[in-house]
Amino acid sequence: MNKWPIGVFTSIDAGLGVHLDVAQELGVPSVQIHAPHQQTRTEQAAQEFLEKCSAAGITVTAVFGGFEGESYADIATTARTVGLVPEETRDARVQEMKEISDFTKLLGCDTVALHIGFVPEDRSSASYTGLIDCTRDLLDHVQANGQRLNLETGQESADHLLEFISDVERDNLFINFDPANMILYGTGDPIEALKKVGHLVRSVHCKDAKWAPEGERGTSWGSEVALGEGDVGMETYLRTLKDLGYDGPLTIEREIAHDRERQKADIGQAVRLLEELREKIG
Ligand code: MG
Repeated sequence: MNKWPIGVFTSIDAGLGVHLDVAQELGVPSVQIHAPHQQTRTEQAAQEFLEKCSAAGITVTAVFGGFEGESYADIATTARTVGLVPEETRDARVQEMKEISDFTKLLGCDTVALHIGFVPEDRSSASYTGLIDCTRDLLDHVQANGQRLNLETGQESADHLLEFISDVERDNLFINFDPANMILYGTGDPIEALKKVGHLVRSVHCKDAKWAPEGERGTSWGSEVALGEGDVGMETYLRTLKDLGYDGPLTIEREIAHDRERQKADIGQAVRLLEELREKIG
């Protein structure tokens, strides 16, 4: 693929992504997908999806894991329910993530990705060291499938994410950078964060958001908005990616699955914005 192929976050049967026909209609050359439900993670489903992608000239660049019981209702609920951090579901979710890695291999894709959850602050806590152990176990499985794991940003500060990745001590753990999440979760200026973690960024989301009011950041959500209408600054974002030498896909995310018409219109507008900026900067 050429530099900065545009992509869309897509789902087969689960998650917030658009369906593949929308990506096809928009004429984008790449997608990330939200992993389908267990009953759909079959060889036959993989083949059928790949045939559709091939007919549309679309490459799958990453598969995102997600789990039953996760809720993004508010920041506190997200912290309690999302990813591998909650200890009561940790073992089952690691197992499911390994199965998602196997399904990703059936799709011929070398990248799985994940919201790992709010990495505990205290690096000597049992919760933190347990998270390190299960992440290593998962990464060894992912490695055996010839893959890397990219962690979605936003739930930690850039500094703490770097500490965690360093503590895991594996060479197939990287980052999917989402600038809007840094704003939505109130975990730091997205451009400063990108400069800090840039050497580990292997995939990105193009998503935009506005900060929560001062005093509420980190406890109340900011608001996700159409690309170019938020506080990220898309031109600065792309210029920073260029400075870092990132030339992978630019995957658009618009998380308003309750309004499919608007989601599609906003993604169409985002494709045009990214094409213009790529022409100007790339
Ligand atoms: Mg994202």
